[in-house]
Amino acid sequence: MSRRSEIVIVGGGIVGLCVAALLSRSSSNRPRLTRHLKVTLVEAGKPPVKSDLPGLRVSALSPGSVATLRRIGAWSDEIAGSAAPIRDMRVWDSSTHVDSPDTLKFSAGEFGVPALGYIAGNSNVQCAILNALDKTDVQTSFETSVESMRDVGNRCELTLSSGKTLRPEVLIAADGARSLIRDQAGITVSARAYQQKAFVTHLQPTHAHGFTAWQRFLQQGPIGILPLIDERVSIVWSTTPDHADALLKMSDDELSLEVTAASSSVLGELRASGPRGAFPLRAQLADQFVRPGLALVGDAAHTIHPLAGQGVNLGIADAVRLADTILQSIEAGERPGDLPVLRRYERARKGDNQTMLRFTDRLNQLFASGSPAVTQLRRSGMNLFNLSGPIRRKAVQTALGLD
Ligand SMILES: Cc1cc2nc3c(=O)[nH]c(=O)nc-3n(C[C@H](O)[C@H](O)[C@H](O)COP(=O)(O)OP(=O)(O)OC[C@H]3O[C@@H](n4cnc5c(N)ncnc54)[C@H](O)[C@@H]3O)c2cc1C
Repeated sequence: MSRRSEIVIVGGGIVGLCVAALLSRSSSNRPRLTRHLKVTLVEAGKPPVKSDLPGLRVSALSPGSVATLRRIGAWSDEIAGSAAPIRDMRVWDSSTHVDSPDTLKFSAGEFGVPALGYIAGNSNVQCAILNALDKTDVQTSFETSVESMRDVGNRCELTLSSGKTLRPEVLIAADGARSLIRDQAGITVSARAYQQKAFVTHLQPTHAHGFTAWQRFLQQGPIGILPLIDERVSIVWSTTPDHADALLKMSDDELSLEVTAASSSVLGELRASGPRGAFPLRAQLADQFVRPGLALVGDAAHTIHPLAGQGVNLGIADAVRLADTILQSIEAGERPGDLPVLRRYERARKGDNQTMLRFTDRLNQLFASGSPAVTQLRRSGMNLFNLSGPIRRKAVQTALGLD
């Protein structure tokens, strides 16, 4: 075991940074083995900037993801203090009132956790992982993009914008939903574009959010209302592309009226208070997660509807499993880039990702139907789910990353 395997990660989003940290000496659960690795991360963008208040893009991190961040030294007091815990959750159908028995209700206490999740700013999470990486020998290269990739035997050769070429033993593609690596490797995707965009902004409610996350299913798509640490809420409203574009252009007063009505005034009036953005939505699963010398993780491997707030959590779970697979292969004297090794990662993760993708896809379709029969069925289903102890428990534990 004296040789060193070179690992290159492309993409410095939350998922790529997590894999890098999990393969580094100070954060790995097999530190002895990491001396056999040389890890480099390449990111096209500038380094993320930390802000006191969460920026436009926030994520609901599950307790399972937070446990991983803690393990890699990236869940410091600073990031924990800037993230809002979700103590309660309410999910309801626009055909009923939020206090109806059909409303799905979850509370952290019921599941023995301090919070059902944490709403954190994406760039703050990236900064926290980068700080943890500063104490490791992982090389990071920002403002450097991969321009092209080609197969050379059982390896991938990358050409960077700097003109440099790299030929790692394992290339990890964490380059997001429009992955260049995946496309240049000829890996196809099974995809469906939703006729929806996610409109995102922060608002100031007149009632305290009480660290509750709300989701109301409207016919055009769900509106999620997530608590922020500074008493504002972040909304993710999946709606028709035309409506999302109109929301972007509205005056603050018009936007407040529209969003308050969509939220059924659960938090009183929601006043416009922050930047706005809209993101086209798509469900996508790579037909293969691995090739000899190549593994896809995070959105490069799968992209799902944001209604369950699971995208980055699935990516962090990929990161954990891929890092484990690589380190176990080194311990066993195998080559980490060999296809049978990487297939273990694919077998462990593709099914879970596919299940969550189908679940969010069907939920979105089910709630989009305005048919009275489907509406009644949906309400009865929610009521039954509320009463179905073990099924409910198992489903929530999976979403929390606790199983
Ligand atoms: C509106 C919305 C709300 C969401 N809310 C949640 C939520 O609450 N909870 C949740 O779990 N998930 C949520 N998600 C999903 C989540 O944002 C994504 O799953 C997650 O950001 C994916 O992370 P990633 O690191 O895989 O990819 P990305 O964050 O897309 O990172 C990819 C990185 O690769 C870099 N890159 C790309 N190409 C190259 C190249 N050629 N060379 C070098 N670098 C390159 C990019 O610059 C980028 O930094 C949401 C998504 C949307 C759209």
